[in-house]
Amino acid sequence: MSVLNQASPSTALPDAALVLRPSACPGLLRIVAARDGGICRIKLPGGELSAAQAAVIADVSERYGAGVVELTNRANLQVRGVRSGHEAALIAALVEAGLGPIPTGGAADAVSLLLTSSQQTPGSISASAADDVRNVMVSPTAGRDAFALFDTRPLCVELLTLLQSEARFAALSPKFALLLDGGERLVRLDHPHDVWLAATQAEDGVRFVFGLAGCPSAAANSDAFQHIAHSAVDHSRPNYAGALAAMLPSQVTDLVCALLHTFLDLAAPDDTRMRHLLAAHSIDAVLQHAQTYVDFPLSRGTSLANWQRPTPADATLRLGAHAQRVVGMLHVGGQPPLGRLDAATLRGLATLSQQQGNGTLHTTPWQSVLLPDIAADAAPTVLAEMNALGLACDPAQPMARLIACAGSTGCAKSLSDTKADALLLADRLPDGVDVHLSGCPRSCAAAHCAPYTLLAAAPGIYDLYRRDGQPGFGSCVAHQLTIEQAADMLDPLAHPARSPSDA
Ligand code: SF4
Repeated sequence: MSVLNQASPSTALPDAALVLRPSACPGLLRIVAARDGGICRIKLPGGELSAAQAAVIADVSERYGAGVVELTNRANLQVRGVRSGHEAALIAALVEAGLGPIPTGGAADAVSLLLTSSQQTPGSISASAADDVRNVMVSPTAGRDAFALFDTRPLCVELLTLLQSEARFAALSPKFALLLDGGERLVRLDHPHDVWLAATQAEDGVRFVFGLAGCPSAAANSDAFQHIAHSAVDHSRPNYAGALAAMLPSQVTDLVCALLHTFLDLAAPDDTRMRHLLAAHSIDAVLQHAQTYVDFPLSRGTSLANWQRPTPADATLRLGAHAQRVVGMLHVGGQPPLGRLDAATLRGLATLSQQQGNGTLHTTPWQSVLLPDIAADAAPTVLAEMNALGLACDPAQPMARLIACAGSTGCAKSLSDTKADALLLADRLPDGVDVHLSGCPRSCAAAHCAPYTLLAAAPGIYDLYRRDGQPGFGSCVAHQLTIEQAADMLDPLAHPARSPSDA
């Protein structure tokens, strides 16, 4: 943050950058109404929360809401069913538990935050805006993966501080997001980010490469490019693939600061995401502009055009018990059914992390939970207790392969009760098949294109899509299916080589 170039154009902000964009996204301080009550989204730095914080969330979800806590595909949590008139008490309790956008020291700070949440004084960022912009994703196993090249946790803290401390960044969309990849095996590479940074090994040490409006590419993972190709904007490979430049880890925060200022300098009023900016400006133009903010070279490295992260991503590591970098320590993970936890289950996980782990829980962008630092001899107990709490800890279990949006019980836009329909499908889901059920085309449950998507057409009736490189959900392979008919179609689609007798 210190090396903003003195020649920087940051002192002359264009009007577009000064306009705070209204948002319909839930936040901690902006509870958004839904069919089942208010939604309060709690952003977790690095996807981590303490057992004590988890217990508070469980308590307030019961006291002020429906007792339902949802995991999001950005590794955050949201309390659903917040009752009218209880919003302020809920927010105050969460802020007092240290879950607010800025460090707070107790009830007095919580009240102060509430009173000023939407106010922005010159040179400062409002609490509400600070909450909106704190979007940095890291691996749930950051700092613990033996394959990782870099422990991204301190850098994540630096970036979150940067985002929340620059008044100008209040103009960023609440969806504007960064990915910080330390080279871990457990990393989500099919979820595009506005800016991504990935550790890479150079001859003389670790560097970070970066790209815009996408994800790091890995040899064994083509999803990132598939998704980019699916986006509404025409993302041509020369602009979006590979990495743009490499820098020292110590330069990353200044780079991000420069890129955010560049975005705000160049973005048209309706441009909320980096992909919108790149539809109007070349990568080279963006880099040239960003160069004015930093005193280290930012020229595009042509040798990085085909850069790929050396370590393949493995999403199955979010489930079950797996070794950490320190010998004898494991992380143990499980998938709550359809990404939802009731208060009792969340309390149970908090207790488990206190008794068997390090007293923290980690959420993942697969809407699952991971407990780190479990001694190897305690892992079977933790797995058994997670199973008893209703979490799927084996990737083969149907509930580990199904995601669904809120559906008609929680969202007025939904044409069907996707959650209930997903539970019906679970009983008949063919092995090896991953399915996303969506109540409408907005695809809230999945920022990626799932292998198969059931898009609601009417209550209990869906159109089936298969991912094949086409935009959106892929190609529609069948219309107007019941859940039973969809289950019958999925098996031969996913396993065409099987004979009918095998099916
Ligand atoms: S995908 Fe559509 S129906 Fe489902 S929660 Fe989002 S807006 Fe509602």
